[in-house]
Order: sequence, then C-alpha cells, then structure tokens
Amino acid sequence: MSWFVRKEKGIVTPTEHKKEAPDGLWYKCPSCKTVMLAQAHKENAWTCHNCSYHTQIGSAEYFELLFDQNQFEELSAELSSADPLHFVDSKPYPERIATAQQKKGLKDAVRTGYGKMSGIDIVIGCMDFQFIGGSMGSVVGEKIARAIDCALERKVPFLMISKSGGARMMEAGYSLMQMAKTSAKLALLHEAKLPYVSLLTDPTTGGVTASFAMLGDFNIAEPNALIGFAGPRVIRETIGKDLPAGFQSAEFVLEHGFLDFIVHRKEMKDRLATLFHMLR
Ligand SMILES: [Zn+2]
Repeated sequence: MSWFVRKEKGIVTPTEHKKEAPDGLWYKCPSCKTVMLAQAHKENAWTCHNCSYHTQIGSAEYFELLFDQNQFEELSAELSSADPLHFVDSKPYPERIATAQQKKGLKDAVRTGYGKMSGIDIVIGCMDFQFIGGSMGSVVGEKIARAIDCALERKVPFLMISKSGGARMMEAGYSLMQMAKTSAKLALLHEAKLPYVSLLTDPTTGGVTASFAMLGDFNIAEPNALIGFAGPRVIRETIGKDLPAGFQSAEFVLEHGFLDFIVHRKEMKDRLATLFHMLR
C-alpha cells in the first residue's frame, strides 16, 4: 500500500486560484544555472552575479548603460536597406528585412547616437546581433560612416560596440565595400586626432573583425567574448588540427596581443570614461 492515497479524482484548480509568477520575473543563467530576479540581473548590467556570464544584449541596453540618463540623439535612424542584387535565398531579401524590422523593432543591425557619457560628449555606435546576425550590409556601413562624420563635425570621440557574424551575404560585394568605407572614415578621425575606442562583444567575427572592430586606438572586449575571423569549425577543418583551449576567447586574443584590456560590463562606463578623459 502506498503512503499517499488520492481521495478525489480529477482535482482541478480554477485559473484565478493558480499562483503563477508572471513571465520575465526570473532569469536563469545559462552558464551556471543560478536563478535570479530579472530586475537584479538587469541591475548587474545583464551579467550573472555568480559566474559573471555576460548575456548578449542589444543597442537599447548598451545605450541605457552608457549614455547619461539614457539621453541621446539617434543618428540616421531611418536608414533602411535596399535590394541592389535582387537577392533570393529561402525568401527574397526585402521580405527578410521587413520580417526582421517588424520582429525586432529595429531598422538594421546597427544604431548610432550622440550624447553624453559621464559628462563627456561622445558618438556611440552599437550593433544588434538580433537583426540578421548583426551582419554588416550597406546600411550598417553607411550608418557607421555617418556616425564618424558626426564625431568629426562635433570634434568628439567615437566608441563602436561590435557584435556581428560578419558581412551580410545577401549584399555580397556591397557588404565587403563597407570594410573599406568604415576604415577610410576612421583614418579621417585619426587625422583629426579624435580618439576611437572599439569594444568587441560576444561574438565579433568576419568582416567586422577584419575592419573597424580592430582599428581602435584602444581595442577592448567583454570577458569571454568570441572574437575571430573565421569560425573555429572552419579553421579546424582547414588546418586539420585540434584548436588550443580557449581559442578565440577574448582572454586568448588578449594574451596574443590583439586587445588592450578586458572589462566587466558592470565597470564598462567608468573604465571608458577614465580612458576618454585620459585621451582628451
Ligand atoms: Zn552564472
């Protein structure tokens, strides 16, 4: 005989008596599985207080973290992609763009803004991985170029936060041209002696790593971010060897001299402010 016997069958709790936590109240860290209040997670700059896991966030969150009182003037906010190649894969490119715009509430994979960070006038560009893998098409290149123009005009520093899978396949050659365009604009910023800091976040790969993301006066990263050109699988298959532990992590890239330092997201604003004060 069992120790518990159900006396009644089919016990049903009416919906109004069910005590469920509302969606989005809790956050579970995908790395260490610690559960925390979503609000506490946000206050910790969207990182885990237990293992420091940095959750991927977008431009809205970075702007909120960095701009004083989240006040900024968005630049070229209305730029949206054309379809120069009439590209069709599983669906036509314009349809893919329209779906992404509708779903994510973004125009393209980067947003740029002008405002104050710890009292310093600054232009910040930030990529959104949510939008077609943060891929760099002509709109991304053009918005970054115009953001640099804005920095030049107002004689203020430029911060670029990268998070990208690389070039946008649907724009092929046009996408690759953005590497040259953004690099040329950064050269003008350099000539004008205005500082440029590149912040690489998880993941920064492909044509973005191969152009503006690695051209900072300071190249910095968030802990454990994946940074590379080709993905680890492609490299492993090409060289036919296993890759060293931690390959392409920010720490590995730092050790090999491609980064200046790694900063925890919680300390990001203070560290950046100190850096820009120093460079003034
Ligand atoms: Zn964790």
